[in-house]
Amino acid sequence: STDKKAGGDDQVNFDIGLEDTSAGVVTRFPPEPSGYLHIGHAKAALLNDYFAHKKYKGTLLLRFDDTNPLKEKQEFEDSIVEDLALMGVTPDKTTHTSDYFQELYEYCVQMLKEGTAYADDTAQEKMRQERMDGIASARREMTPEDSLARFEEMKAGTEEGKKWFIRAKISADNPNKAMRDPVIYRCSPQPHHRTGDTWKIYPTYDFCCPIVDSLEGVTHALRTTEYLDRDAQYQWMLKALRLRNVYNWDFARLNMIRTLMSKRKLTKIVDEGKVWGWDDPRMPTVRGIRRRGMTIPALQEFILKQGPSRNVVNLDWTTIWATNKKYIDPTASRYTAIAKRDMVTVHVTGFAHPAPYAEDRPKHAKYDLGNKKVWFSDTIVIEQVDAAELAEGEEITLMNWGNAIVRSISHSINPVKAIAAAVQDAQRPVASVNVDLNLQGDVKTTKKKIHWLATPDNNGQELIPVECVDFDYLITKDKLEDDDKLEDFLTAQTEFRTDCVADCNVASLREGDIMQFDRKGYFRVDRPFLHGQPAVLFQIPTGKGGK
Ligand code: ATP
Ligand code: MG
Ligand code: MG
Repeated sequence: STDKKAGGDDQVNFDIGLEDTSAGVVTRFPPEPSGYLHIGHAKAALLNDYFAHKKYKGTLLLRFDDTNPLKEKQEFEDSIVEDLALMGVTPDKTTHTSDYFQELYEYCVQMLKEGTAYADDTAQEKMRQERMDGIASARREMTPEDSLARFEEMKAGTEEGKKWFIRAKISADNPNKAMRDPVIYRCSPQPHHRTGDTWKIYPTYDFCCPIVDSLEGVTHALRTTEYLDRDAQYQWMLKALRLRNVYNWDFARLNMIRTLMSKRKLTKIVDEGKVWGWDDPRMPTVRGIRRRGMTIPALQEFILKQGPSRNVVNLDWTTIWATNKKYIDPTASRYTAIAKRDMVTVHVTGFAHPAPYAEDRPKHAKYDLGNKKVWFSDTIVIEQVDAAELAEGEEITLMNWGNAIVRSISHSINPVKAIAAAVQDAQRPVASVNVDLNLQGDVKTTKKKIHWLATPDNNGQELIPVECVDFDYLITKDKLEDDDKLEDFLTAQTEFRTDCVADCNVASLREGDIMQFDRKGYFRVDRPFLHGQPAVLFQIPTGKGGK
């Protein structure tokens, strides 16, 4: 079965029912350079790569499907090449559909001559309606000579030519609407980012795809299941032109909940400044999710585990982030951060040193990631949420240090501050706490393990300002329907910034590092601490809490 997963938890093995592999499998990934790759494209790219390079010893082609000069740019091509490399997808050859404009033109001429295509100037709206209703175009029986003459007008880009289209002559009323005389060429005066103004005519995807696949030696054309209806048309083109056969294999499009996965909509939110750009951590682009802290092995595992199944589902982000957690946990060093607005001072008695001092502690409890410095002092800070839970006389554990007994708790008298501190009940916030160190105490017996930081003084340690940023989904609805207006479903606030201070070790983290703050979770460094400017860290979802 194609959905079969074999092997252990991390093993992926499935096939596409290939019998004839003797000639070598050739697959292709055909992006249109009209945007950055998103996680759906990543699925297509990784599956094609899997069959070409992992399952079989075949060939992977990267073909830029660049037939619509209005939407395409070199910037997008460059980003696609880079993102594929990032994902470990290495095409054996890179081509462009536009490399074949001359051949495609000649094939169209051949079809016009043979009467398997005709020129049509039916207005676009009317043409659409006729195709819906199964009505033949008034131009359907035009002679090859007349059609060819129109095609030449189109090619020259004349005023007359601009009114015409070329359509494959398949059927006016086939129950499969994809078979109702699809348009194969249109006239467009737009210059093209690679061929300049050489061409005034551009072939459609329906026409190019089978022809170029066949010319390039593709054996298996993987497509998403929305193209099932168009497989018949694809095969018809090959037969009409007597070209080498190509096998179509359809797999499910990847949809994720509360996620835009159409380049048109993603372009819109980029252009309208709803996000910072294509690599915004809220974007489902390869760059966006990496910036949010997704690792490539997790992405690969997630995609390949679904395999080429045909069940189209709206997947939750939980699984992919949980997969990611497996990969980042062993390498994420642990540090400590305290939210600035919530800092509560704790006076520590029984501190036997004349001054603050530092000791080395492991960066990870289980894996050897080296050591970090932990500063100890008779004055430390903890977070209000933790302070609010403390009871006098209670024994607690100060993480990386040892136990302490809470002696006294004093509360703020300012009720306004209580609201600002977002204390859930009407309690007044804690202003300060006194504890006695009890380093002989057993850390296994305490319920509360609290993270803390020694307050800065002149002994060399310094608290590092950091901004911890968490994000929400860009849209409010699990799945946008075609007639839903994007504007109506944009989440009002998607970025949540918390100013914190962190331990001195955080100063040396670099962009892209993935680390963990005690009790706060995983973060990726988006901007390191530099010139006194706070480090900016993005919270990495772990699949808990729906994010
Ligand atoms: P979009 O809707 O994002 O514009 P597209 O199909 O128009 O997608 P292309 O650049 O033509 O964009 O896509 C390149 C390849 O990626 C195609 O083979 C396409 O089938 C595949 N692909 C696009 N979106 C998805 C998706 N959500 N899931 C799986 N494959 C996808
Ligand atoms: Mg496409
Ligand atoms: Mg599309």
